[in-house]
Amino acid sequence: MPSKKPETDEEIGKLVYFTKRNIGNGKAFAWVYRLPCPKCKKALMGKPREGGKVKIRSKEYVCPECNYTVEKEEYEGTLTAAIEYTCPQCGNSGFIEVPYHKKKVKVLDEETGKTSSADAIVFSCQKCSAKINITKK
Ligand SMILES: [Zn+2]
Ligand SMILES: [Zn+2]
Repeated sequence: MPSKKPETDEEIGKLVYFTKRNIGNGKAFAWVYRLPCPKCKKALMGKPREGGKVKIRSKEYVCPECNYTVEKEEYEGTLTAAIEYTCPQCGNSGFIEVPYHKKKVKVLDEETGKTSSADAIVFSCQKCSAKINITKK
């Protein structure tokens, strides 16, 4: 069940990504489950480990069972982001699933007035079609 809202530590451990954000007057909670190894299907793909530590910045995902390796971008392209949101434009509350594909967006820092570039999952409100960006802190 890729779209089940993660609640337990075990479920959170199966995620590659999750974030909770306030977006203007709205908010969004997004999560992405890891998928099993496409080769042996025995285990979830994960970042490689070295000496018991996960190599967070690795550009690859590895199957802990059979060592099948996939490039990060290729693997993440097969994943689905589930998003529970309240639209900042129209107040609609909804649930949507979109491909886990991060885009570079410009973000305005309201304190400094400066814009910077950030990775975001972009989706449209199902009611008013407003574009909503979920950036990671
Ligand atoms: Zn495998
Ligand atoms: Zn809306």
